[in-house]
Amino acid sequence: MQQFASDNYAGMCPEALAYLEKANGGHVPAYGEDPYTEEVCERFREIFKHDCEVFFVFNGTAANSLALSTYCKPYHSVICSEFAHIETDECGAPEFFSHGSKILTAAGEQGRLGYEGIASVVHKRSDVHYPKPKVVSVTQATELGTVYDVNQLRNVQRAAQDFDLKIHMDGARFANALAELKATPAEITHEVGVDVLCLGGTKNGLAVGDAVIFFNRDDAAEFDYRCKQSGQLASKMRFISAQWLGILENDAWLKYGEHANNCAIQLESELKKIDELELLFPRQANSVFVNLPEHVRNGLAAKGWRFYTFIGAGGVRLMCSWNTQPESITNFIRDLKGLL
Ligand SMILES: *Cc1c(COP(=O)(O)O)cnc(C)c1O
Repeated sequence: MQQFASDNYAGMCPEALAYLEKANGGHVPAYGEDPYTEEVCERFREIFKHDCEVFFVFNGTAANSLALSTYCKPYHSVICSEFAHIETDECGAPEFFSHGSKILTAAGEQGRLGYEGIASVVHKRSDVHYPKPKVVSVTQATELGTVYDVNQLRNVQRAAQDFDLKIHMDGARFANALAELKATPAEITHEVGVDVLCLGGTKNGLAVGDAVIFFNRDDAAEFDYRCKQSGQLASKMRFISAQWLGILENDAWLKYGEHANNCAIQLESELKKIDELELLFPRQANSVFVNLPEHVRNGLAAKGWRFYTFIGAGGVRLMCSWNTQPESITNFIRDLKGLL
């Protein structure tokens, strides 16, 4: 049965799988010197309309941690939302890989950071006893299922400029944000000052393998050493990069992002019809957060439904994926109604 616990419960999309088969065709050089890796880096330069430098790692935690470590000395700090994955879900990896940089959380609305929140963290102290803010990290789409529009990103950029901060974007669900915003990849990254994007592939339909995209080539100097030292340099990198070729071709990544979002729209509209239920955040990506009474949560669990209740600001998080089927939504709603 399909689940709404996380978008990484879903398997691989056919496009990625087809390219895995293709990449299995013969001998090619290892450690990213292969033609698939070269081609997908070129594709990213076209898609982002920018001469970016691209690396592949095994997961989002590594992507975020290594990208942040690039900018942070041990006495620096990273400003992010209190709900940010780097704060709540990475077991201190950003601090570990940066050898001690501290994560500082800022208040914001609906999972986003705004100018005031960033400013208040920066202005809290300015002396040597406070870890010096160096990076502001935004998640697109956010952990609460909202997105930053271009204006909201410009506010972050203004703060970054005023306080001399680099901008890191955790794009574990970047394709969902793109689909919602109808923006181009360039418009919501380097054109609003993003220095590095950790682009998630796993939740978008790959088996494994996220991309780290630096928009300033100088920032990427020696990042290959950082990947290797942390055990993140895939020797058969073609099996990561070829999957990416599969989902970038014919904009499959955007199609899947949009599909997941549309499923969440359907799920939200069904939940809204049930008077007793309270929805927590406006749906803007592929998740819906809802308060469910304890007996309903237990009843759904007894019927085999799995979901998370520890993400964000409480409530049950229901996540749609690249291959969520309409029947799964119907079945879930039927079981839910039966318990009310
Ligand atoms: C899933 C996710 C990641 C990456 O998690 P890994 O398990 O390390 O791949 C990063 N950021 C956000 C917001 C996520 O949802």
